[in-house]
Amino acid sequence: MTNKWDVVIIGGGLAGYVAANYLAKNDLSVLILEKAGSIGGRARTNKMKQQLFNIGPHALYKKGKAISILEELGINISGKSPKLGGVLIKDEVEYAAPLNLSALFSSQLLKGKEKMEWLSMIMKIKNINVEKLTDQSYKDWVEQVTKSPTIKSLLFVLARLSTYCHPPDITSAKVILSHVKVSMDGVLYIDYGWQTIIDQLHNKAIISGVDVQTNVVVTKMIKDEDDDYKLISSQGDIFPGKYVISTTGPSELNAMLGNDKSLPKDNFFEEIIPVKGATLDVALTQLPNPKQLFAMGITDPLYYAVHSPYAILSENRNHSILHVFKYLLPDEKTEDKDLKTELELFLEKLQPGWKNFAITSRFIPHIVVNQRFPQTGDNQRLYQLKNKFSGLYIASDWASPHFILSEAATTSAKQAVEEIIIKEEESINANHYRRLSRI
Ligand SMILES: Cc1cc2nc3c(=O)[nH]c(=O)nc-3n(C[C@H](O)[C@H](O)[C@H](O)COP(=O)(O)OP(=O)(O)OC[C@H]3O[C@@H](n4cnc5c(N)ncnc54)[C@H](O)[C@@H]3O)c2cc1C
Repeated sequence: MTNKWDVVIIGGGLAGYVAANYLAKNDLSVLILEKAGSIGGRARTNKMKQQLFNIGPHALYKKGKAISILEELGINISGKSPKLGGVLIKDEVEYAAPLNLSALFSSQLLKGKEKMEWLSMIMKIKNINVEKLTDQSYKDWVEQVTKSPTIKSLLFVLARLSTYCHPPDITSAKVILSHVKVSMDGVLYIDYGWQTIIDQLHNKAIISGVDVQTNVVVTKMIKDEDDDYKLISSQGDIFPGKYVISTTGPSELNAMLGNDKSLPKDNFFEEIIPVKGATLDVALTQLPNPKQLFAMGITDPLYYAVHSPYAILSENRNHSILHVFKYLLPDEKTEDKDLKTELELFLEKLQPGWKNFAITSRFIPHIVVNQRFPQTGDNQRLYQLKNKFSGLYIASDWASPHFILSEAATTSAKQAVEEIIIKEEESINANHYRRLSRI
C-alpha cells in the first residue's frame, strides 16, 4: 500500500467511481474511501427475494452526458426505453397522457386549440437555448410561455418526471429545461439495475490499480505543512493525499472541513437544500391490470411506472417490478406512515388488489434524490465555492452548475479530474524549471 496517494476520493458512488477511472487512465495513484459496507451509493441495486430494486425509480437519459461519459470509460449499458404513454390523473379522473401523437389527439385532457399549443410547446422545448434562462425560475418561465392552466400543469408534470424537482417556483428554469429537453430523446431502464454500472466501474478501477476501502467514515480533513491533505476516519486512521475529491453531500463536507484554520469557510454549504422523495418499490408475481404501465398525478405529485417490461429485474421474466413515488416539497413534514398509505392507495387505484400478488416491497420515506435543489443564483455560488479550496475538488450531483442527478455526478467527476491533471502538469513543470535553474 502506498504511504500517500495522488488522489483520495471520499465516496464510492457514481461520481467517485467515474473520477477514479479517469484518474487511473492518467497514471495517478487513487484511493476510494466509502463509509458503507458496500459500494454504489444511491446508484446501488438491492436484491430482495430474487427481485432487483434500484433505490427508487432510476432512468438513464439516452442522449445525456452520463451515458456518453460511461461509454467513454468502456461501460456496457444494456436496457430498453419505456414506451411513452400511460395516464395522467387530475382530480381523480384518468386521462391518456398526451406524450405521443395518437394520445395527444385522443386525450380529453387538452381541449381544441390546446392540443396544437402543446405540440408546439414540445417543439419549443426541444429547440430552446437554456443559456438565456440563467436568472429565471421554472415557474416564471411557464407563466411567460402559456396562459392555459392545463398546459402549465403539464409543464410542471414534465419537470417532475425529468428532474424530481417540486415545487417549480424556486427551481432554476435553465437546469429544469436542460433535463426536460434531454429526457425528450428518451430514457433507458437498465438490465439488472444501476449496480451493473457501478460494478463495471469498480472492476475496471481495481484492474487499473485503484485502492478501495469500505466501512471507512471520513470525519475530518486537514492540510499538513507540505500543503497536502490528511483525511481522518472515525477509527482514527489517517489517509494522506496530494489531492482530494469529495463526493459526499454538502453538509458532510462542511462537517469534515470543521474548524481547521488552514481551510476556508463558506455559508453556501448550509443554505443548500436537497431534492427529496418517498419511494415504494414493489415486486409482483403479476399485474392485476397488465395494461397500466405508467401514471402520474397532475393534482398530486405522484409517479407510478412498471420498469420490468423494459429491463431485466427478476430471474422470472413474468414478475413485475414497479415503483410508486411521491415528489416531496423541501419543507414537507408528512409522517412516514401517511406517506406510505398515500403511495399504497395510489397503487391500489392503478393495480387493484396488488397486495394479493406481492412478492416483496420496500418503502423509503424522505430519501435524498439530489443533494441540491437547483435554484437561480446557484451558478455563481458554486463557482466561488469550488475555487476556494486549493487541492480539494467537489464532484457529486450537487456540484454542477448546469445539471443535477447522474448527469451532474458524472460531469462534475470528469471535470474534477481534468482540473487535477492540469494542476499536476503545472506542478511537474514548475519542479522541472526549479531543477533546471539550479543546474
Ligand atoms: C429515488 C431516487 C431516484 C433517482 N432517479 C434517478 C434517475 O432517474 N436518473 C438519474 O440520473 N439519477 C437519479 N437519481 C440520482 C442518482 O442516483 C444520483 O444522482 C447519483 O447516484 C449520485 O451519485 P454520487 O456519487 O454523486 O452520490 P452518492 O451515490 O450519494 O455517493 C456518495 C457516496 O459517499 C459516501 N460517503 C458519504 N459521506 C462519507 C464519508 N464521510 N466518508 C466516506 N464515505 C462517505 C456515501 O456512502 C456514498 O456511497 C435518483 C436517486 C434517488 C435516490
